[in-house]
Amino acid sequence: MKTAIVSGASRGIGAQTAIQLAEKGYLVIVNYCHSQKDAQNACDRINSRGGMAISYKADVSDPLQIKEMTDFVVRTYGKIDLVVANAGVGHNCLLTDMTDGDIKRIIDTDLTGVITLAREGAKSMLKNHSGNIITVSSMWGQVGASCESVYSAAKGGIIAFTKALAKELGANGIRVNCVAPGLIDTDINNNLTSSDKLALVDETPLCRMGTAQDVANAIVWLASDESSFITGHVLSVNGGMTI
Ligand code: NAP
Repeated sequence: MKTAIVSGASRGIGAQTAIQLAEKGYLVIVNYCHSQKDAQNACDRINSRGGMAISYKADVSDPLQIKEMTDFVVRTYGKIDLVVANAGVGHNCLLTDMTDGDIKRIIDTDLTGVITLAREGAKSMLKNHSGNIITVSSMWGQVGASCESVYSAAKGGIIAFTKALAKELGANGIRVNCVAPGLIDTDINNNLTSSDKLALVDETPLCRMGTAQDVANAIVWLASDESSFITGHVLSVNGGMTI
């Protein structure tokens, strides 16, 4: 059975991705940091439908906790076939109002967390000469967002990292791709007012917010053999926003 680690899978895009990967036959490690109950709910949903999932608490901003998680997966299930580096936090604020701690938290979680999880997953994949790494960036990593400059920097960094790592790992049968969601209806946007959301929907050619399923569909496709000659790619899942 193929094993997938989905970081930040307690809620939103990660939880939906975990559910859809389990439907494709993956044993899924549902990673979370704070939302233990939500992670357990996602696992219960998967396991009650005949899939296989376990929840695992690890703060992706801490490389040691990532290593403990990946070591646990290799020890218990033998290998890691797929990493979806999805966990992320937002922070809406003028750069000049951000503290050193705010900046460190965003970079450590949204960028270093992705890099470290990809590194630890790749160690197992290299032994098997196969694997798949999918990173989750954002349209703001492609164009930049006012009041989200550090988040945009982290998400832009993920794109460069994905392209570089795809070149490094391709000869070993490991693909590395990225999804760049637009405005998706999840908790991360709870800080936006309805008029903020309407303004963004107005700029979206498909005239709606995306759903977690829209993004999960793209991730599951990139994880599948249907995309077997695609690596180093950034797939925008943004309703046609100009980027
Ligand atoms: P969400 O509903 O807020 O979910 C965020 C997930 O990340 C949660 O499961 C959360 O788990 C986890 N997480 C946060 N910090 C973590 C940490 N330190 N360690 C481990 N897990 C952590 O948001 P979402 O929209 O699904 O976001 C998923 C990804 O999509 C993020 O990378 C986000 O930047 C990206 N994205 C979202 C949108 C959008 O409009 N929704 C657009 C572009 C990109 P806990 O609650 O357990 O901490």
